[in-house]
Amino acid sequence: MSTTPNLATRDQQVIWHPYTQMKTAALAIPIVKGEGALLYAEDGKTYVDAVASWWVNLHGHAHPYIAQKVAEQLQTLEHVIFAGFTHPAAVTFAERLIQILPQGQSRIFYSDNGSTAVEVALKMAIQYWQNTGIPKRKIIAFRDSYHGDTFGAMAVSARSAFTAPFWSYLFEVCFIDVPVAGNEEETLKQLEAYALAGDVAAFIYEPLVLGTAGMVMYTPEVLERLLEVCQQHDILTIADEVMTGFGRTGHIFASDYLQRKPDMVALSKGLTGGTMALGATSCNEKVYEAFLSDDKRKTLFHGHSYTANPVACAAGLASLDLLLQEETQQHIERIGQRHAVFAQQFRKLPKVLEVRQRGTILAVEFEADGTSYFNKMGDTLYSFALEQGVILRPLGNIIYIIPPYCITDEQLDQVYQTIRGMQQLITGDRYFEPPTHTTLHD
Ligand SMILES: *Cc1c(COP(=O)(O)O)cnc(C)c1O
Repeated sequence: MSTTPNLATRDQQVIWHPYTQMKTAALAIPIVKGEGALLYAEDGKTYVDAVASWWVNLHGHAHPYIAQKVAEQLQTLEHVIFAGFTHPAAVTFAERLIQILPQGQSRIFYSDNGSTAVEVALKMAIQYWQNTGIPKRKIIAFRDSYHGDTFGAMAVSARSAFTAPFWSYLFEVCFIDVPVAGNEEETLKQLEAYALAGDVAAFIYEPLVLGTAGMVMYTPEVLERLLEVCQQHDILTIADEVMTGFGRTGHIFASDYLQRKPDMVALSKGLTGGTMALGATSCNEKVYEAFLSDDKRKTLFHGHSYTANPVACAAGLASLDLLLQEETQQHIERIGQRHAVFAQQFRKLPKVLEVRQRGTILAVEFEADGTSYFNKMGDTLYSFALEQGVILRPLGNIIYIIPPYCITDEQLDQVYQTIRGMQQLITGDRYFEPPTHTTLHD
């Protein structure tokens, strides 16, 4: 399998990796095969993919059923322009998404990733008010949120070191605190103040779990109250379910924990089970109807070359088949139960600040001098996990599991053991010599 010069060296000659300081980065690990929750490296080492390859993989790697459906689609229709034309996979997928999406969602607008799904939702919300003739402009978002890396998505995301070079190019956003335990009333007050001041077009939020912020969690009860305030003041609500969608939180969508439903939902990541790049923005009839007009200027002038790519839609349909199977639902429950047992034991250990869990997502926050992304602990923990054959990418002093649902009990135990090893490293009960190269991750 190995070639000369090897893949990692060739990579280093021509590739610029995401979120990576290329000057100091370690060589990338070449992966040549995936099966279930396992990734196989060129050198024969295997890794448990405990982060579902950046939170996208639902059913395991190279799933034969998805592969078969994608292959069939590729041999039938690989792509077609989606303005003026349509195709079976896009329509069927939209029909099936609407069936499972939070009540009221009635239209699917396709794009090709999570950031674009968010951009589309923001553009829908902003233009909604222009089409309606009501001058509402402001967008409210959580201070620590992450909604993507394109400019609109960056604008509604945290003003962090990641976006600092672009701050002066980002539109102004009204940030409110994340309503974590103890902070609920304060967040509500902040939202109410903005709402009363008027001029608020939309509120965009990661429901129940803020991923990139460090799997920061808050309750359905407080989100319910936030949405109530929005509805009282006619503020459009956008649930960014790019990470939380498709079973991650224990329900198909995090919004399913709530009575009140959003006006728009952004989807990607698990949308295709982690097989193909695809984004979707759904909205309700209220939003959709504001764009219906004899006046062409009220059109949503947005689209991407690969909008509704048939192969991606076929992967999405196949992934949905698998997700709705009884067996997958049992896996989701099993992972949640096992996480809960681990959390209960682990949170009592020294140097463990907090253990958070919602469904299949588990996060451990270790005590650290500073909780910044750039603190050194993350690099050491990342290297340690790789040594143990587990892919866990710390967000600073926070380590999280967001596994493919097919992960076996044995593989989960291996992941838990690795996190226990991390705790021992931090308390000094274990020694590990980290590699000299730094590895940057988010
Ligand atoms: C990952 C993510 C995005 C961006 O998706 P990309 O496909 O990486 O552009 C947006 N919102 C949330 C909540 C995410 O986790």
